[in-house]
Amino acid sequence: MKGKLKKVTLLSGDGIGPEISKEAEKLLSIISKEFNYPIQIIKKDFGGVAIDKTGNPLPEDTLETCKKSDAVLLAAIGGPKYDNLPRDKRPETGLLGLREGLKTFANLRPIVVFKSLIDSSTIKKEVIEGTDLIVIRELTGGIYFGKPKGIETRDGEKVGFNTMVYKESEIKRIAKVAFEIAGKRRKKVTSIDKANVLDVSQLWRDTVIKVSKDYPDITLEHLYVDNASMQLIKNPKEFDVILAGNLFGDILSDEAAMLTGSIGMLPSASIGDGSMPAIYEPVHGSAPDIAGKGLANPIAMILSAAMMFKYSFNEEKIHDHIFKSVKDILEKGYRTKDIMQDGRKLVSTKEMGDLLCKALTLNLSCKESII
Ligand code: NAD
Repeated sequence: MKGKLKKVTLLSGDGIGPEISKEAEKLLSIISKEFNYPIQIIKKDFGGVAIDKTGNPLPEDTLETCKKSDAVLLAAIGGPKYDNLPRDKRPETGLLGLREGLKTFANLRPIVVFKSLIDSSTIKKEVIEGTDLIVIRELTGGIYFGKPKGIETRDGEKVGFNTMVYKESEIKRIAKVAFEIAGKRRKKVTSIDKANVLDVSQLWRDTVIKVSKDYPDITLEHLYVDNASMQLIKNPKEFDVILAGNLFGDILSDEAAMLTGSIGMLPSASIGDGSMPAIYEPVHGSAPDIAGKGLANPIAMILSAAMMFKYSFNEEKIHDHIFKSVKDILEKGYRTKDIMQDGRKLVSTKEMGDLLCKALTLNLSCKESII
């Protein structure tokens, strides 16, 4: 399978970022070799490490390199050292700048409950078993960006206000992403709104219905956000693709993440209209409390790389091979500390990375597993 060279900008960032990046790099080199799939990894400074070197969390050179690549793989940024910097100099500002620079408007967060980790969740086994959904959250609009906003004094007392605003075009483009993805899954979109109260939600619902006409084979349902948050805990298997605006998506995606019970397992993607590279990153942060101790779980990072093959390179097979390797290793009982259970085998970040690489090689050569 020799394809065109793929340029991947790797932003290892801070805290556990460099450790989990190393494991993802090892995996990418195996894919490159076994699939005869040329990948060039370009490493750039981003976040705290970039602040230390340049005073800027997103140096110009880093952004330009990201723009010229086929995809961006980001580990995590931030840490206590940077918490007291002015807002425009903080690592998080770099993240917003990166998303803005690459025009990523859709955040994709797959939530899969691995059978072998089912006891890690606080929810009953029979409720979450078989859960496999994806939350698609609008990332650049809604109440987080709407104007007017602020805090001012009215009639002698302080008033705080924000504006939830969506243009029809913004709703259309995110709805299209959801329907396209649903078409490759179980063909169901659940659109989240609060149309019984909010005008902006009414427009959201009307527009999603309009877009759905182009996708007659996809089932569309609408849920008010309060009901959705209950259904997600009561019957998560009912969901396939959840489509939501920025605020509702932010909250529901964290709720959905907790179905799995382990933040070190969750990948995500931030994508745009395809004219710029997408960003793939774990849901978790830089975990400064465990950095440098070999305790970090590299699976979220590795599954983020898997998403990159699926969504940016259209290589579903490679995605599936990586996913299966993760499943195999978990079923064999290997665990990093964050997902450790009685009777399982505790491994370090590096050992988990090595096991995943070995499993991937074995899966690819279809040999009998010897791990
Ligand atoms: P966090 O996700 O870094 O950590 C929360 C808890 O989960 C910690 O106990 C940590 O040890 C654990 N954890 C996280 N990832 C893990 C992994 N892969 N393996 C094992 N355990 C893991 O969240 P936080 O503590 O709130 O934030 C720490 C720093 O990360 C802050 O500076 C924050 O701003 C930053 N952050 C960055 C991103 C990002 O880069 N996109 C996202 C969230 C937070």
